Amino acid sequence: MNLPYAEPFRIKMVEEIYQSTRAEREQWLKEANYNLFNLKSSQVFIDLLTDSGTGAMSDRQWGALMTGDESYAGSRSFEQLQNSVEKITGFKYLLPTHQGRAAENVLFSVLVKEGDVVPGNSHFDTTKGHIEFRKAHAIDCTIDEAFDINNLHPFKGNINLEKLEAVYKSHPKESIPFCLITITCNSSGGQPVSLENMKAVKALSDQYGIPVFFDSARFAENAYFIKKREQGQENRSIKEICKEIFSYGDGMTMSSKKDGLVNIGGFIALNNEEIFRKASNFTIIYEGFITYGGMAGRDMAALAVGLDEATEFAYLESRISQVEYLGNKLIEYGIPVQKPIGGHAVFIDSLNFLPNVSREEYPAQTLGLEIYKEAGIRTVEIGTLLADRDPETRQNRYPKLELVRLAIPRRTYTNNHMDYIAAAIKNVYERREEIAKGYKITWEPEILRHFTVQLEKA
Ligand SMILES: *Cc1c(COP(=O)(O)O)cnc(C)c1O
Repeated sequence: MNLPYAEPFRIKMVEEIYQSTRAEREQWLKEANYNLFNLKSSQVFIDLLTDSGTGAMSDRQWGALMTGDESYAGSRSFEQLQNSVEKITGFKYLLPTHQGRAAENVLFSVLVKEGDVVPGNSHFDTTKGHIEFRKAHAIDCTIDEAFDINNLHPFKGNINLEKLEAVYKSHPKESIPFCLITITCNSSGGQPVSLENMKAVKALSDQYGIPVFFDSARFAENAYFIKKREQGQENRSIKEICKEIFSYGDGMTMSSKKDGLVNIGGFIALNNEEIFRKASNFTIIYEGFITYGGMAGRDMAALAVGLDEATEFAYLESRISQVEYLGNKLIEYGIPVQKPIGGHAVFIDSLNFLPNVSREEYPAQTLGLEIYKEAGIRTVEIGTLLADRDPETRQNRYPKLELVRLAIPRRTYTNNHMDYIAAAIKNVYERREEIAKGYKITWEPEILRHFTVQLEKA
């Protein structure tokens, strides 16, 4: 008999979670103004809000925490982190920040100015926020296949080179600070970018003299997909693939809360000394001295180990096969999900799932609320609330897809949890015809509204 797959780790510490009643959940939702971000974690049984900073650290990482060096300048932990980052990415200069959006804030303070355009593949929400906050524009050049949830293209995060070249041709070079490749591409469903595409984007950008940066939160998961799906890559190690990925960029921003396998942290890494010097000034203003940038020494030490662990094939296989396991269960139940299944999350197509809820009443938000009511599972809306209003016209921007994201924290839940989640969603699916009313906004902030928006039943 062939041996089945089993995780390459065992569990050393557990945390109890509370299973609430439906009546409790209905009450809590009302108190939360129908925004799942407003729930207390104690009101959630399985938390799939995000895979950001929610994973479990290894014994090696907890060990590293104890040996962290808390010196203000030049700490040993910074040196360990720098060595780890250089080994994996090849970038010479490192600026730690307190998380990914802080890295964006620092780097974009140097590079992005009013009126600029930043082309890329479906920019992440905070990234877009930091671009638009500076009165610049993010231009989405993702391939069209990404927006068809049933298209099985293996690299739906890829950039369409014609769209990119059209941006390069229609704007002066001075107003395009860089092209940003997000790996994996979160907004289009945790979909990877191929090495071939990165190489081509780099070559095209070189031709026009435009730098290329990576938004690298899930770079290791992207490398795993390259190994599994791209011709000629199957025998290379994840670390070799990562080295090649970053060779096609001038630098990167990182949210360490994803593939850094830690609970907080971020960084910028790059090769250009002038940008590094300018960014150092902003790091000092916004984050802290350049050898800690808002991170405790112990957290940098744990991150140095986390980056090493995240770029090992056995870890990535357990991680991504769990996400796939959940996705395949949902497909088996007939639920419309984005295919192929992404690296960190399963995305449900709510327009298909809830055809009776109009787009003006936020179908993805409505579905997320139903899933919570059903079983205490917290998900997140990747739809019109997240897409926000157009900064000029203040009209709702309706994205091509209205998705509910089930983000799976790393090394945290078992496959029994995955079975529970799939069953809960199947139950909602079976009563989908009865769900005809969505929600309307009663209050929202100026920018990044999904975090704090308040709603009521429509
Ligand atoms: C999470 C994330 C960010 C922002 O990082 P934070 O650590 O949450 O501030 C930026 N880009 C991508 C692709 C991300 O996934």
